[in-house]
Amino acid sequence: MAVYRGPRCRQCRREGTKLMLKGERCKTEKCAIERRPFPPGMRVSKRRRAATEYNNQLREKQKIRRIYGVLENQFRLYFKAASNRPGVTGENLLQLLELRLDNIVYRLGLAPSRSSARQLVLHNHLLINGKKVNVPSYRVKEGDTIQVKEKSNNLELIHSSLKGLRDIPDWLSIDKVKLTGQVVRVPDRASIPVNVEEQLVVELYSR
Ligand code: SF4
Repeated sequence: MAVYRGPRCRQCRREGTKLMLKGERCKTEKCAIERRPFPPGMRVSKRRRAATEYNNQLREKQKIRRIYGVLENQFRLYFKAASNRPGVTGENLLQLLELRLDNIVYRLGLAPSRSSARQLVLHNHLLINGKKVNVPSYRVKEGDTIQVKEKSNNLELIHSSLKGLRDIPDWLSIDKVKLTGQVVRVPDRASIPVNVEEQLVVELYSR
């Protein structure tokens, strides 16, 4: 599956907010948005963008897409799946994105960022319910266990990430000794810690 390989800090600067795409670096003064709090590109930074309704909706969609590291076509598929489910489409969309394996690995604290989590998955360091899964977009279900493979137990990336102070959401549990996590329940909107207005994405795609 294709992924964005360009500069990640540029994405934060474009959205004008910290998307926390680089793990620990995002919490330091090296964060690009702290040093250059304006959109990338000389011409763009000097041009005044009209805050139209459409522009706000578009920016919110891009923000969500970039937080979860999902490309446009894949994001559309998530939206379609979300709108086909019962309930609130915006909440469904965030639920589906949260249940991606790379996001769960990040939320469990096994990796400092979603892109690192994605690498862990791609490089076969994880088991789901005891079976090898190396697809970052794999949809984890309630009750599934995510386990670091025995041969990967000593990976420095995992241990240094677990030492970080990141809170584990209440819908996940982790055993830091056995390096095993579980999805306790499907998260509701209140337990998804992303500061976005998903309703704007629903309005965008309803045009
Ligand atoms: Fe965004 Fe992190 Fe880069 Fe800061 S350091 S601009 S939060 S990716």
